[in-house]
Amino acid sequence: MESFESGLAKLKRTIYASVLPIAGIGAIAVGLTGAREAERATAVWLVPIVLGVVILLAWAALLRPGSEVLRIERRLLIATGAAYLIALGTAVTSAWTVGGDEVTSLIRVGLWTPVLVAFAFLACPVSVARWLAWTVWTTFTSVVAAMFVFSGQVDAASATTLLETVVVQAVAIVMIQGIVYVASTAIDRGDRLAAQANVDPLTGLPNRRAAEEHLSRELVRAERYGRPLSLIWFDLDRFKEVNDVYGHEAGDRVLARVGDALRSDLREHDQLARWGGEEFVIVLPEQGLTDAVRTAERLRARLADHEMGLPDGIRVTASFGVAERAEEEAPRDLLRRADTAMYAAKHAGRDRVEAHRPTAVPMADGPTGPGSAQVGPSPNAPQER
Ligand code: GH3
Ligand code: MG
Ligand code: MG
Repeated sequence: MESFESGLAKLKRTIYASVLPIAGIGAIAVGLTGAREAERATAVWLVPIVLGVVILLAWAALLRPGSEVLRIERRLLIATGAAYLIALGTAVTSAWTVGGDEVTSLIRVGLWTPVLVAFAFLACPVSVARWLAWTVWTTFTSVVAAMFVFSGQVDAASATTLLETVVVQAVAIVMIQGIVYVASTAIDRGDRLAAQANVDPLTGLPNRRAAEEHLSRELVRAERYGRPLSLIWFDLDRFKEVNDVYGHEAGDRVLARVGDALRSDLREHDQLARWGGEEFVIVLPEQGLTDAVRTAERLRARLADHEMGLPDGIRVTASFGVAERAEEEAPRDLLRRADTAMYAAKHAGRDRVEAHRPTAVPMADGPTGPGSAQVGPSPNAPQER
């Protein structure tokens, strides 16, 4: 299943794809306009031009397939933050010394605060972004307050506009925070629901629905690259007796321990899932029948040896069926063949592994026949209770 993280990254990529060229060209245009005003300090027009170029480069980098959104946006945030601080410093210096009209350049810098804050919330974890947002606001507000008190350059009209700028910034930050809170709550909820829909609550393993999706996807991949793939189907032996003798709760405990028993013998890409009841399936990419049978044999022995929390250390066994994918085989056919092999293992005495070979005439069900081949009797006697 595609993770939400990648869904979020895709969404961000879409936002950046449309916003960054506007921001980049806009910043360059602002810089070029400023350069025509002779009395402006160099930094005032150079900074937006440099920032505009950086934004356009970041945009180009994001358009490249496979580019990492997070890395690019962090760098962009640093560049934007630095440009903001330089612009703020320059504006304060000229407003402080020259006063009059120069106070408006401070107001202009203030206009960009909400943009910087929104960007911080996109690029950083919420706690970091919140801290950044209020640090920027406090810095701006302190600078404005200091100008009021000490510079003597702020007339009444500019004072009102500066105060408004500070208030609007605070409102914008609170609103952005609110939107982020609502969005992240919805994302968390979606994540939780998606996880619940795919996980079996008793065992914590992927459920049947997840297993079906996973098998279909892995089969398509194996088919495309001409790679082997096998499926193991296993069913706990005489499990009804476990419930009857030790109670349903003890049965649940056994089911919950199946994953623990087998985990160490599975590779990272093997998926163990609970198909339903006391039946489990394992998808084994890159394993042909011989390897998969060997794996099943190892798992069988591991399970039969595992402490399942039953009184007197009673063990539980399972019967295993193995099948390797045939060319262009549908998932349900592969599942059916593994299930058929599992039934052959049951009929042959349980606690053993049977393989289904696609080339032989398949048998619908029943004892070891032309369609399935027993791999060898289990060294352990079938469990009797
Ligand atoms: P076999 O060796 O032929 O597979 O015998 P079996 O008793 O395992 O097979 P059967 O299909 O007769 O019984 C399966 C039992 O699994 C019946 C049911 O009570 C039990 N079972 C299925 N799901 C659960 C569950 O979630 N919890 C518990 N405790 N038992 C379950
Ligand atoms: Mg069963
Ligand atoms: Mg059973």
